[in-house]
Amino acid sequence: MAPKDILDLDVAIIGAGMGGLTTALALAKKGFRNINVYETASNLGFVGAGIQLAPNMARILDTLGVWADIEKEAVDLLETSIRQGSTDEELGHVDLHSIRSKYKYPHMVGHRASLAGSIYEGCKREKAIVFHFATSIVEVESYGPQPAFTVKPRNGEPKKIHCDVLLAADGVKSAVRDQMLRLKNVDAKIIDTGQAAYRIMLTREEMANDPELLKLVDSNAVTRWIGEKRHIIAYPVSSGQIYNLSTVQPDLNFASAPSATYTTKGSKPQMMKTFDDFCPMVKRMLDLVPDGEVCEWKLRVHERLPFWVVDQTALVGDACHPTLPHLAQGAAQAIEDGAVLAVVLSKLPEVSPEAINKSLRVYEQVRKERAYTLVDLAAANGRGLHLGDGAAKAERDRQFAALKSGKGPVPDKWADADVQAMIYGQDVVKIAQDDFESMYAALE
Ligand SMILES: Cc1cc2nc3c(=O)[nH]c(=O)nc-3n(C[C@H](O)[C@H](O)[C@H](O)COP(=O)(O)OP(=O)(O)OC[C@H]3O[C@@H](n4cnc5c(N)ncnc54)[C@H](O)[C@@H]3O)c2cc1C
Repeated sequence: MAPKDILDLDVAIIGAGMGGLTTALALAKKGFRNINVYETASNLGFVGAGIQLAPNMARILDTLGVWADIEKEAVDLLETSIRQGSTDEELGHVDLHSIRSKYKYPHMVGHRASLAGSIYEGCKREKAIVFHFATSIVEVESYGPQPAFTVKPRNGEPKKIHCDVLLAADGVKSAVRDQMLRLKNVDAKIIDTGQAAYRIMLTREEMANDPELLKLVDSNAVTRWIGEKRHIIAYPVSSGQIYNLSTVQPDLNFASAPSATYTTKGSKPQMMKTFDDFCPMVKRMLDLVPDGEVCEWKLRVHERLPFWVVDQTALVGDACHPTLPHLAQGAAQAIEDGAVLAVVLSKLPEVSPEAINKSLRVYEQVRKERAYTLVDLAAANGRGLHLGDGAAKAERDRQFAALKSGKGPVPDKWADADVQAMIYGQDVVKIAQDDFESMYAALE
């Protein structure tokens, strides 16, 4: 490798999702001058869906200078209500007012377009970042010492690209991850969770004639209606102009699901049937979705990977730790990855392939255990919420009842104070900053 200033390293990022965008922005903020982002899509055609913006995500985005724009349109989350889907009876209620003072950042809910769009705007203000849209990575020829890969622009000839660091943030279907696993003969696979999600956005106007529904869109609450094997989570976004609902239910269309997209056109009658025993108010909301506009997402995760780094190449975000939505942390974790990568690369003690590899392994050490702990906790939370009659459900409902007198854990884990302390209270960027030298020195 020709001697270079650290900040002149050529960094290639695959994928412009939350992980790729944050990685690019965090590196540019550290002063890196050559950052190229390759993205299959021809633009950031944003999914019409909401997203929870947890304090650990907000803290990083604020440091990167993009949180203020996101916060403007987001809705402050001050309470959560967990309810029996069939009756609308409140099982548990958690006051979340203290989150902002405890963690210095609020827990908000917002529109995905606002989150990704603001990070993208932040990237566009950095001249170090160049986007290559409509360009897919097709093959990695070398993971190092100088990574080389072929990209195919949609309307052009394949091109070979060389870089100094390759960061693959290409999502749950990551082609780079699959190639890395084949290279190392590791047999880790995509896991079909047997669950799917409908994602729905209702406008304020659509709900305006129904006072009960209007109360929901005017609230500062996340409401979760639960039932056996199913639930619906809902909250207002876009300054209270839109009510966002995300369901989870058994994936009945598994066999016919297009594996290329993981999304499929859902059937409204089937959606109504799935939630047929839910209370009339929930059914009125679902019924507002126009026929033909039901979108269903397959929920897939991946077996744990034994490594995230090969030579000078690393995996980022859902490519290495896809997480079920039941803890609302998948994007937050991809964002933590990007921020930590920028710290470890900016701290390279020298410019050499060995130093890059060791720094990337520090990233893996800082991130892996935490990310996989949350992957497991999200899956466990889903199981707890979806219980059918039996001893486990009776114990869960006893815990919900105890909550009414302010005692014990919250069975919906994202709202539990100890879980929040573990997720929001840990500053992974600070850990990477403080511990980089000792972790780096301890590596072979
Ligand atoms: C129903 C649901 C609700 C959720 N709710 C929340 C929530 O409330 N809070 C939260 O934090 N997280 C949530 N998540 C999780 C979150 O959406 C994901 O974890 C996050 O978007 C992952 O970001 P990523 O950048 O790693 O991957 P992605 O967002 O999947 O981005 C990958 C990018 O790579 C591109 N790409 C793929 N292949 C190639 C290729 N070969 N060449 C070039 N580009 C390529 C893709 O086009 C895409 O743009 C939820 C997920 C679901 C399914």
